[in-house]
Order: sequence, then C-alpha cells, then structure tokens
Amino acid sequence: MIDIGANLTNSVFTDDLGEVLNRAKREGVQHIVVTGTNIQESQYAIALATKHGAYLSATVGIHPHNADDVKSDWLDTLEELTSSPHVVAVGEMGLDFCRNYSGRDAQRQVFEAQLDLAARVELPVFVHDRDTDGEVLAVLRRYAPTKCVVHCFTGNSDELDGFIEEDFYIGVTGWICDERRGEGLRRLVDRIPIDRLLVETDAPYLLSRTMSKVLGTRRNEPAYLKFVIAELARFRRCPESVIRDASVENACRFFDIELPV
Ligand SMILES: [Zn+2]
Repeated sequence: MIDIGANLTNSVFTDDLGEVLNRAKREGVQHIVVTGTNIQESQYAIALATKHGAYLSATVGIHPHNADDVKSDWLDTLEELTSSPHVVAVGEMGLDFCRNYSGRDAQRQVFEAQLDLAARVELPVFVHDRDTDGEVLAVLRRYAPTKCVVHCFTGNSDELDGFIEEDFYIGVTGWICDERRGEGLRRLVDRIPIDRLLVETDAPYLLSRTMSKVLGTRRNEPAYLKFVIAELARFRRCPESVIRDASVENACRFFDIELPV
C-alpha cells in the first residue's frame, strides 16, 4: 500500500512520528507521500523526507486555505523547493469553496501560478477540489497538466467524468468509510479506471466516525489506509488485493517512486 496523501507535518504528529511510521510499516504501508500546504510546511515535508530516506516523499505547494497568506516572493521560494530530489509533485493546490478560508480570487491566482510552475519544472500536480462546482475541472482543462491527481475526491458524477476524460488520477480517502458523507462517493468509485485509482488517508484528518469509535481516536494516520482499501474493494466488488496492487503500481508510475526490493 502507498499512502499518497498524509499531512505528517501537522503538529499532532510531533511527539510520536517514529511510532506512527512504524505502525504504518507494520500494517504494510510501503511508502508515504507527505503533503505540503504552505511554504513552511513544504520545507518541513522535505526535511522529513530527507530524514526518512526511501520511505517518505514530499509535495510542495500552497493549499487554497493559505492563499491569502502568501508573501510576495512565495513563488520563487516554492520553485527553489521543487529542486529537492525528495519532491514528487507540486501541491496541494486548488480551490476550496466549502470553507473559504481564503478569498476566491486569491485562491484562483495562487492555484494558476502553481499550475504554471509545475509545467515549468515538469512535476505532477496534486490538486485539492472542494465544492467548486466544476471550476477546478475548468481551470485544469485550460492548463492541461501532463500528470494530475485530484486528491480526496468528493465531487459529483459530472466532475468525475470530466477528470477521467482528462486522464487524471483520482485519490480516494476515508471519506468512503463514512456512511452519510461518503454516500455519493460510494456510488461513483466503480467508475474510476483501475489504472487511475490512488488511495490516501489525508491523515490526521478524515477518520470516519465508524472507525473513530472502533479505534478510540480521532486522529487518522497512514496505518489506517487498509480501511480505505477495504471499503473500495467492497464498493467495487473486487478482492482487496486488486485495489492494493493497482494503487501501488499507479502511485509508483504517477510520482516516479521506486520501492526498495
Ligand atoms: Zn486537500
């Protein structure tokens, strides 16, 4: 299993990251992509990937929530960060009209500048899309990135069809484990082409209520990726091994990750 999206730079992991990584390894997680959400967290993501060698990779980017807070030189700094050999994608980038923590115009500007950057440095893009009613899809169609993953997909069927048409990858999180919130996603997941399917925890977020009760914690972590895979297998009516194998192969192809033999 490869967790393609974990916010391991989050301060809830400061005290026991070593244990979190060990638990992930014990559960069969072979690699984790640590997501950057602003300049500082992106630097920290690279530092973690540097420290943990082959087990972690990093993305560097500005999450739409943080679009209002960028400094004037943010794009140059981000471009410098992309030169690290541990960086496998630019992002999180995108639009979030659910929470609107940043103004929409700032979100759009910062998103598009990162799409330009990713094309310039030839890295895949890692996209966050929440309640944008097709706007993220429209922007992506204009920029046509060579490699794109829409992480934590929670959109509608038109958006999914659009992303699939553009040959983008789709990241599925524990959203699918949630009976109420995940209902729409559960109906859609069998339409994702098996060679475009990626799995992720989005830790420490998105541990479903059901799992939270069973595990006695609200903090999600990469070791729980198996629950996402189990639900995907259930709703695609296939063995879990099919999801596990395909998602590992897809993640290696997408991020250019080489697993140690
Ligand atoms: Zn996100």
